[in-house]
Amino acid sequence: MSQKITSYPGHEITTDELKEGKYLEIVQKFEPRYSWAAGVAISRFLEELKRGRIIGRKCSKCQRTLVPPRMYCEQCYRPTDEWEYVRDTGSINTFSISHVGTDARRLKSPILVAVVELDGASPGMGILHTLGKVEPSRISIGMKVKAVWKPPGERQGAITDIRYFEPVEET
Ligand SMILES: [Zn+2]
Repeated sequence: MSQKITSYPGHEITTDELKEGKYLEIVQKFEPRYSWAAGVAISRFLEELKRGRIIGRKCSKCQRTLVPPRMYCEQCYRPTDEWEYVRDTGSINTFSISHVGTDARRLKSPILVAVVELDGASPGMGILHTLGKVEPSRISIGMKVKAVWKPPGERQGAITDIRYFEPVEET
């Protein structure tokens, strides 16, 4: 026969106990691990990155090439129609020079972040990435850049398979 517990030992912590630190404290660190399905469009996009190629999706109604690819055109409210490779060159749409790291500490050398509109993708389609081999003061909107890829053996099917974008030498 089970017995119901009606009273518990101990008492609620008082203000004085709290001030005097007379309580037990347990610090527990959670390390949740997440995984999620990338979906049809981004899965293909990541597979292509591993092969050193960048792919988008074309909508035959508005004639736009969406990069990163989407299976649905948000302007036409209809499914996109076909895969289309774009180039790994493009131009800087916007950029940021960050002197502060993710832990809010000042960095010795700034992180250069840019939205790059790839050649072959429609205007306004850009991927967020970092810039390399460029003096921060030289960066400008419209500047031509090219992807610097990791060697094939190091690629994992991730956006970081592109190390960074560097300026294209003007000839
Ligand atoms: Zn469309």
